[in-house]
Amino acid sequence: MSMRTSRTAPKRRRRLKPHGHRLLTKSEQMARVRSRDTDAEVLLRRALWRAGLRFRLGTRALPGSPDIIFKSKRIAVFVNGCFWHGCPVHYTEPKANREFWLSKLETNRRRDQRVDGELLKLGWRVIRIWEHEVYGNIADVVARVQKEHGAGLL
Ligand SMILES: [Zn+2]
Repeated sequence: MSMRTSRTAPKRRRRLKPHGHRLLTKSEQMARVRSRDTDAEVLLRRALWRAGLRFRLGTRALPGSPDIIFKSKRIAVFVNGCFWHGCPVHYTEPKANREFWLSKLETNRRRDQRVDGELLKLGWRVIRIWEHEVYGNIADVVARVQKEHGAGLL
């Protein structure tokens, strides 16, 4: 799940206007990250659908509100935003409000771990996908999900 500020916040699909060569403010960067994160989820859903995988959108009834679920296989999929979840490739430490962002990141990471543990206890398998994997090599991501999906045959 992309890291919205609260569990109940609606998904933002803000369209970005060209910004020329001006540096983006932090809040503009945040908006971009969010918007791309949501786009990554949509891209992944389309690719999975094209691959013949039938899923449901995540439900709040499950810990962490997974982005995509395969209910009968008990597989929960999360698309993690590179900034919000501290991707090892793309996370860059903000210069301003460093403490604030660090603690937010730490909170998010802990939440991810807790959610994974809770889902495992409930008998679910968890697949976490970085946003950049969706943009970079979606075929690999689909293959990974397909493999888990096939591996879950009863
Ligand atoms: Zn990344």
